[in-house]
Amino acid sequence: MIDRRSFLNASAVAGALASTSVGARAQSRPGGSPDVAVVGAGAFGGWTALSLRERGLNVVSIDEYGPSNPRAASAGETRSIRSGYGAQGFYSAWAIQAMAMWKQRQAEFGRTLLYPNDRIELAQEWSPGLKAQREIFDRLNIPYEVLDRAALRTRYPQMNFDDVEFAFLEKSSAAVIKARESMIRTSEVFQEKGGRFQVARAMPGEASGRTLKTLALNDGGSLSAGQFVFACGPWSPKVFPKEMGPKVAVRRSEYYYWGVPAGDERFSWPNQPAWHDHVQGGYGFGSIERGLKYSPNGGGGGAHDPDTAERLPTAFLIEKGRQYIDHRFPGMRNAPILETRVCQTEGTANTHFVIDKHPDYDNVWIASGGGGHGFKFGPLLGEYIAGRVTESPGDPQIDELFKLSNKPDIG
Ligand SMILES: Cc1cc2nc3c(=O)[nH]c(=O)nc-3n(C[C@H](O)[C@H](O)[C@H](O)COP(=O)(O)OP(=O)(O)OC[C@H]3O[C@@H](n4cnc5c(N)ncnc54)[C@H](O)[C@@H]3O)c2cc1C
Repeated sequence: MIDRRSFLNASAVAGALASTSVGARAQSRPGGSPDVAVVGAGAFGGWTALSLRERGLNVVSIDEYGPSNPRAASAGETRSIRSGYGAQGFYSAWAIQAMAMWKQRQAEFGRTLLYPNDRIELAQEWSPGLKAQREIFDRLNIPYEVLDRAALRTRYPQMNFDDVEFAFLEKSSAAVIKARESMIRTSEVFQEKGGRFQVARAMPGEASGRTLKTLALNDGGSLSAGQFVFACGPWSPKVFPKEMGPKVAVRRSEYYYWGVPAGDERFSWPNQPAWHDHVQGGYGFGSIERGLKYSPNGGGGGAHDPDTAERLPTAFLIEKGRQYIDHRFPGMRNAPILETRVCQTEGTANTHFVIDKHPDYDNVWIASGGGGHGFKFGPLLGEYIAGRVTESPGDPQIDELFKLSNKPDIG
């Protein structure tokens, strides 16, 4: 587990954000080719491109379908930010830093992206993960409460807690983030600051020894750059089958927006907390514009190609979701589904991200493996990856955690 020292170093990463300014370290490469080409404009690549540009580099951001396209893992209206990470205290600490950066970016971007709310984890017993989480919150001074069933019924009367013994409640460290909007705005700001965005499919192209020289583009052209960051999310196994294929699993996931009763705000933000259900499974958020969001467990499995997969929900999971809503939200019984989403996560066996140099090249980075939890770290990941690419002093302990070679093969 990563300790408080790394937490403080993460603070240094956040602090760097405040001091970055375009042009601070401007470089130009011969022939005007970019210093860095970032392939993928999702949460990993979009923020990395912006952070690199803010360091004064000449950066091109490339995405085959555009930022926050419906096939991407970063697509969809909302994602949650939380510090509750079970025994993974490193991510608890990082989420606190990320939250601070989101607030800064929200102010800079000039639009509401964060919807702070309570987040409750419903449980019947203190699992090892929840026990460890409580210790981590104590150690990092993250505020929380433990509510028994009676307190839950008083605090959130719109929910049924008959099968719940208690909930772990995090307050100031949780929020819902507008996902699609934030990624589109990140790309806009990147371009306003002088970055270039291009729609293209890009694969590793010509190489000379341990140096990648170009990207091969889908139109037959090529693009040269000094360094390359491949932040291809669920496409990583297609781009690097040998390196990423055995290390990440691409899993299908479904979630639905359930229509709240007319004129009834009990199930909407901020009255409805975000929740994670350790008893019945799944998670959700209160309605923000679209309906109460709930994702049942069990959407994974089966091959899922992010390019060709149809995004149609399964009758089995819809029924599972409907039974859940009827049970947990009696006031929503028989609520209609207003919208459905099918997406995919791309995770490693130990849930840690891959942020590392490609084993065959000295100028190629792979930034991937966000699984079901990477979005919240976007602004911090951008700074971290930009720091690695520009060889800024970092924290070897964090670098080690994100190494490709440390990832067990997916079983
Ligand atoms: C349903 C769901 C719910 C989630 N909930 C949460 C949550 O609540 N909180 C949280 O923190 N995280 C959550 N996550 C995880 C988080 O959304 C992901 O970890 C994160 O968005 C991954 O970002 P990415 O940039 O790695 O991938 P993506 O967003 O998929 O971006 C990759 C991009 O690369 C492009 N690309 C790929 N290959 C190429 C190529 N060869 N050439 C050009 N472009 C290419 C694609 O078009 C795509 O836009 C959730 C994920 C899912 C799917």
